[in-house]
Amino acid sequence: MNETAPIPNGSTLPHGSTLLHGSTLPHGSTLPHRLPVVVLGATGSVGQRFVQLLAGHPWFEIAGLTGSDRTVSQPYGQACKWVLSEPMPARVRDIVVQPTDPALFPQARIAFSALPADLALEKEPAFARAGLAVCSNASAFRREEDVPILLPEVNPQHLGLISRQRQERGWTGCIVTNPNCTSTGLTVALKALQEAFGLRRVFAVSMQALSGAGYPGVASLDILDNVIPWIGGEEEKVEWEPRKMLGKFQQDQVKLADCVISAHTNRVAVSDGHLVTASLELERRASPEEAIQTLRAYQAPAASAGLPSTPGPVFVVRDEPDRPQPRLDRMTGNGMSTVVGRVRSDSILDLKFIVLSHNTIRGAAGGSIYNAELLIKEGYIS
Ligand code: NAP
Repeated sequence: MNETAPIPNGSTLPHGSTLLHGSTLPHGSTLPHRLPVVVLGATGSVGQRFVQLLAGHPWFEIAGLTGSDRTVSQPYGQACKWVLSEPMPARVRDIVVQPTDPALFPQARIAFSALPADLALEKEPAFARAGLAVCSNASAFRREEDVPILLPEVNPQHLGLISRQRQERGWTGCIVTNPNCTSTGLTVALKALQEAFGLRRVFAVSMQALSGAGYPGVASLDILDNVIPWIGGEEEKVEWEPRKMLGKFQQDQVKLADCVISAHTNRVAVSDGHLVTASLELERRASPEEAIQTLRAYQAPAASAGLPSTPGPVFVVRDEPDRPQPRLDRMTGNGMSTVVGRVRSDSILDLKFIVLSHNTIRGAAGGSIYNAELLIKEGYIS
């Protein structure tokens, strides 16, 4: 895929409807027929967010919901302990939760996966083999060389890996992942600064919300009045995944970005919104004012613009000394914008700042939905 290439003429959507004839789709445009999609692991923290966001989506229609043996055969309204402040959409209450089997959803074109990683490893390929585009939150395939970790406002050109994936794995669907939720906002900010100044070293400390641990997640007596300074596997993900997303796509592969990341990850008693403090060493020194200007002026790749979930804006840079804060700022841009603040000089490296991203929206379900929109726009789903 070429970042500036127009949407291929004649890309088709289900039921033969031809939509994609321009270089961008109008914000909030409605397809003549909405694309049937299935949510895998629909009852958990991310699954609920998928259900909430998909219920009002102009392009997608929920055709199925899956769960474990605990919830299969029950109506979603009964099976799911709904924990979002937005009400459960009325139309999903009576949908019966099904096992995670592609044969049960012959009409679905996209599988949005909120499965635990071990299960994703087994189930997601079955959906890709059945011809579905799998937009996954799980870590199972992120390190595979032919699977993109995608943030449309960062690396849409990595979708080029899909041709290789289809060829090598012999399936007509695909698996596209979004990054771990802590890497998401951090990578968007790093991309803008990498492009302008080059990036050598990053030292990041996270303060991660409870919804990031799934539902029911961390026991209340463990987290109240406390910070837990360890999240299994998280530091390794934050130290590696941004390097893949910031890497160059060349000759059917992604060359990891040549920077080093050190991460400390902590669980804090916040409901939603991951905050990360980061210090950076750049290739070319930049003042805080230059960095702020760069972040505010960042032009995301053209391919990522004009989709229903495109963040508006990509960045918000706060000037107040005490922002961003999770409770006040996580819903910026409907939870899809990356919020940066406290950009200042660092006494060891060059610059430091704070970045906030909503973990179940931009960092999970909203991010996957944005990825699926890009797949459609670029003609990977037909
Ligand atoms: P969660 O709240 O624990 O939900 C897990 C979901 O998987 C539930 O719907 C559960 O269904 C289902 N499930 C478990 N075992 C199953 C089985 N054998 N067959 C079918 N379904 C099964 O976890 P989560 O936080 O939503 O996370 C889901 C995935 O997204 C994980 O891979 C996680 O690492 C990733 N992720 C999470 C976040 C976040 O902010 N939470 C962000 C990015 C990525 P039942 O309820 O029926 O048991």
